[in-house]
Amino acid sequence: MPLIQVALDTPLYRLFDYRLPEELGTARPGSLVEVPFGRTRQVGIALGPAADSAIAADKLRDVIRVLDDRPALSPDILRLAQFCADYYHYPLGAILLATLPPRLRNAAPFVADTPWLVVTDGGRSAEPAARAHAQRALLDALREAPQPRDTIRAQKQSRHAAALVTAGWAAWVRLPPVSGDSPRTATPPPATAEQQTALESLLPALGKFGVHLIHGVTGSGKTELYLRLIDAVLADGRQTLVLIPEIALTPQLEQHFRRRFPRRRIVTLHSGLAEKDRAENWLAAPDCDVLLGTRLSVFAPLPRLGLIVVDEEHDASFKQQDSLRYSARDVAIARAKQRNVPVVLGSATPSLESYAHALAGRYQLIELQQRAISQARLPTIELVDLKHIPVDNGLTRPVLQALGETLARGEQSLVFLNRRGYAPALYCPSCAWVSPCPRCSARLVLHRSARRLKCHHCGLETRIPAECPDCGNPDLKPLGQGTQRLEETLAALLPAARIRRIDRDTMRPRAWAELGEAVHGGAVDILVGTQMLAKGHDFPNMTLALILDTDGALYSPDFRATERLFAQLMQVAGRAGRADKPGRVLIQTAFPDHPLFRYLQRHDYAGYARALLAERKQLDLPPFSRQVLLRAEAPTMDAALAFLQRAAALAPELADVSVFAATPAPMARVANLERAQLLIQSAQRQALQAFVRDWRPQLDTIRPRVARWSLDVDPLVF
Ligand code: ADP
Ligand code: ZN
Ligand code: ZN
Repeated sequence: MPLIQVALDTPLYRLFDYRLPEELGTARPGSLVEVPFGRTRQVGIALGPAADSAIAADKLRDVIRVLDDRPALSPDILRLAQFCADYYHYPLGAILLATLPPRLRNAAPFVADTPWLVVTDGGRSAEPAARAHAQRALLDALREAPQPRDTIRAQKQSRHAAALVTAGWAAWVRLPPVSGDSPRTATPPPATAEQQTALESLLPALGKFGVHLIHGVTGSGKTELYLRLIDAVLADGRQTLVLIPEIALTPQLEQHFRRRFPRRRIVTLHSGLAEKDRAENWLAAPDCDVLLGTRLSVFAPLPRLGLIVVDEEHDASFKQQDSLRYSARDVAIARAKQRNVPVVLGSATPSLESYAHALAGRYQLIELQQRAISQARLPTIELVDLKHIPVDNGLTRPVLQALGETLARGEQSLVFLNRRGYAPALYCPSCAWVSPCPRCSARLVLHRSARRLKCHHCGLETRIPAECPDCGNPDLKPLGQGTQRLEETLAALLPAARIRRIDRDTMRPRAWAELGEAVHGGAVDILVGTQMLAKGHDFPNMTLALILDTDGALYSPDFRATERLFAQLMQVAGRAGRADKPGRVLIQTAFPDHPLFRYLQRHDYAGYARALLAERKQLDLPPFSRQVLLRAEAPTMDAALAFLQRAAALAPELADVSVFAATPAPMARVANLERAQLLIQSAQRQALQAFVRDWRPQLDTIRPRVARWSLDVDPLVF
């Protein structure tokens, strides 16, 4: 009986050998198989034949079945997963299974929905019996265009459809094929001069690997550039993968793409989809023209891949922060290289990693410095100095005055505060109790409308105490400002204004379309929200942006905090004055002399990026060095640190690699576990990779173990 190697979703860095009973036929590499594992059954991925199993023949177990209701993972996905296993030092089986949507990781048979009826080749020339009028009519309709099931049902043609399918003249499919002669592309606006120049260097680059970084101010027409590139890729019969950061933005962008490519097959993939839809869309991906999705879609099956676009490439949500801690942007580049296709990274504020590559000439840099709509000017940015101007409920007079004026002109404003909830904590004025989370080193956030205290780190929720748990004082006060409280304050101060709040508590993915319409239709005067509102939305009548509290990031110990803050402020500022009306941005800060603001006021990303890069170079920080973080979690900090100290002692001696001291994590306790970390750094990626290859297997041998440890290659958040 043949032996095959199977990859399973286990923490073990190895494959497993199984016998493949003759009656199951063959299992080509990538096939999904169900196998016995311990006392359970698991779905795994068949890889190659196992030549000589180290396991005694009588101990080997049999594959239970090959899951042939779903396609095998393609060779290029196997190769990409292997790259991730090597680069992120993570078990191959766990990666392979994670590339599948959850519903397809489970052995229960999956029947994909097939909502379109199409004519088959046989059906094109078929002659239904003369008396079968209804069948003939339906067949004629199908020859014109595929028909959706809902229409067929509504027109009571289901019976005739079934007859056509039985005759082999029609078939139900997931995605309707595109008919050859239909207009595929809506007419694009004429390219701006800058877009034209960009296209002249980008179009000839299609068809081979290369990384192209489009640095374009908000509104400069990056999306329009993607669409034109995609059009060229489509004309060549190939597919484009478009990676986007937020679920929230998917519907908006999807709509934009559908309008441009009305007859094309556009498929979305993100975790906001129901499990069934995610499985359906993943199964449809090989036949689609454009796949639009969040980070997980970097692993989707795309046999005709011709281009990868990573929009908002700097966005931290491309990096997964648990299990396989991959960067979808970096994996996208690896995939593009393996498939020899170009990858286009786009952002108004590229990550310093990408920007440094571009400055060094490793990536092609394309700059769009003008807004695409000629009248649209960049906003003026003013600082409100909190050292000299008093704050009341988080707001200063200049800010309120600007809001009032904008309202009076019938224009819209947005108010940015990156803290959801009513107040960041509840406070006892008599004993200074400040609502600690019992499980984390964090405060419980007051959510007044839900009447809860919530921990934003571990999810703990409790009722709002009637009195101080420490001293019994019944007069507890909200401490600081959250978006809910800000909304309440603004409503009281500006009773005529129609205010909407946007944050994780108010927004469901589908709510964006409705919100977009409300803002466009003029039904909203003031948008209050967290960073969720910083992204992507283009509201022509929004002329004022207020940024209330940024100072935490200015002096954060995280060396990327200012880079992130700058990007965020540029994005928010980019929301103001996009059409023919000039925009204005006011930022409240106690540190108006911080250099970040100088660059921001001049809209000078390049200048700030160069300044930050010079600093990073001096301090040997990324992108001038590479980092790996070993994270450990244990019930006590001593145990977590002891584990890391053992790990440091086991570190291979390598001249080019520095092992730093184990330290408590900045957020030291989450969900009753203490967290510590050990930083490894090197100027050379190769050296660091070789180091971790040697080191990683030894970490398994450390005793006592900790509750959890993980390696984070290219960590983004410390
Ligand atoms: P970005 O993605 O850089 O923020 P978009 O592609 O969304 O910019 O373009 C911003 C606005 O400019 C959109 O309303 C878009 O329709 C418009 N636009 C982009 N390119 C052109 C063009 N060549 N001619 C006219 N309008 C354009
Ligand atoms: Zn008290
Ligand atoms: Zn907590």
